[in-house]
Amino acid sequence: MLKIDHKQCTGCGACIEACPQLAAVKIRDRYKFIYPSIDPQRCDDCGRCEEVCPLLCGQPGKPSDGADGAQDGFRPLYFAAKARDRAVLTDSHAGGLFFLIGKRVTAQGGAVYGCAFDENFHPRHIRTSSLTGLEGMRGCKPVQSDTDGIFASVRADLEKGVTVLFTGTPCQCDGLRHFLGKDYDNLIVADMLCGGVTSEGVFHRYLHWREQRLGGRIRDIRFENKRAFGHSGGTRVIFRRGKLRYLLSTPAPMDSLMQMWKNGAILRRSCGNCPYACPERVGDISLGRFVNLRRAHPDFSYAGGVSLVVVSTPKGKALLDELADEVDLAPSDLTRASRNRRLTAPVRQSRYRKERLDEIFSGRFDAAADAFRVRGMLSRIMIWCRWLLPDRVAIGFGRAVRRGSAFLADRMSLFARKKK
Ligand code: SF4
Ligand code: SF4
Ligand code: SF4
Repeated sequence: MLKIDHKQCTGCGACIEACPQLAAVKIRDRYKFIYPSIDPQRCDDCGRCEEVCPLLCGQPGKPSDGADGAQDGFRPLYFAAKARDRAVLTDSHAGGLFFLIGKRVTAQGGAVYGCAFDENFHPRHIRTSSLTGLEGMRGCKPVQSDTDGIFASVRADLEKGVTVLFTGTPCQCDGLRHFLGKDYDNLIVADMLCGGVTSEGVFHRYLHWREQRLGGRIRDIRFENKRAFGHSGGTRVIFRRGKLRYLLSTPAPMDSLMQMWKNGAILRRSCGNCPYACPERVGDISLGRFVNLRRAHPDFSYAGGVSLVVVSTPKGKALLDELADEVDLAPSDLTRASRNRRLTAPVRQSRYRKERLDEIFSGRFDAAADAFRVRGMLSRIMIWCRWLLPDRVAIGFGRAVRRGSAFLADRMSLFARKKK
């Protein structure tokens, strides 16, 4: 019978879906993170759950031939990439590659599986074969989705010959691969360069806290707001107060959930020692944000956001080739791509994680948020200026300030030496 290690279990759900006796069920811990639980009365010790658990099957993902992530003889390729269509770029995370891939798959009659919020803001993996369905999957979501019944649905589609694009966190993608037990020609797996996830419980408490402050009901939330803040991101909330609808944009450094998430204060335990934060990818293609692009590829335009694309299989390469007329691409390498640290190391858990989660689940979201509040009017003004200025202006402004302060420091030290 499966022994569940709460420090390591990623909650991928493969064991739950694979159990023929329905003895493995989904439960939530006190912070509402998903874990499996085995009912010993029902379990007949068939061992199927252990067979599909990625943690018990050695190295996650597919076998690797080298430390640089080479798999089955295919050496991974790294690219900086962005959609040429400005509208796609604006409404998508990073360079908009997920949407373009999804659009192509649905246009060819395939099915796309990915995370979307339902009407009650429950993050769930859903199946779609339409552009409307794809819309909800766009943008990053710092919360773990429910994959109830999804792996079985993917297998049914694959057996029928439907082309399937499955997208999710690497642990979910690995759970799917182990559940299926074999590769299918019509399956494309696109994993995200994952910075960890929080639980649905934390997310709902955050929504409730924001609704109280706004004095209205939240109707939509996005953790990507390029319309207001360029590629720097930020949160966009649409809420209703009385009969009126309002739109509120918040820069990422001033959004409590984003700050707690980025600082590792509300993450799942397994995220702190995630085995998937490495160049050996689970997906045929891996997508994330290209970090520090200006240093890595000074000639590539960063306006609007740029994706880091890691191609790990010939299937992934063929997919990217199909998009050649819709994306701008710049070949890169592991050294430059590793500026996105999720390719080399897991996120760091905050040592105050338990404290923050306890505050959140004892009805004191305010106290947890307060630890990440931006203090000082000047800091607030600087953040708003940085986030509201167009990307080029803000970056140029930042560079000018840095150079100016270096110049002043230099003059001051010269003056002090002369005085001596
Ligand atoms: S050993 Fe078999 S019956 Fe028991 S929980 Fe695992 S899969 Fe289910
Ligand atoms: S299969 Fe996934 S959910 Fe089940 S124990 Fe293993 S890691 Fe946890
Ligand atoms: S950081 Fe790792 S364990 Fe956590 S959700 Fe992402 S892939 Fe899964």
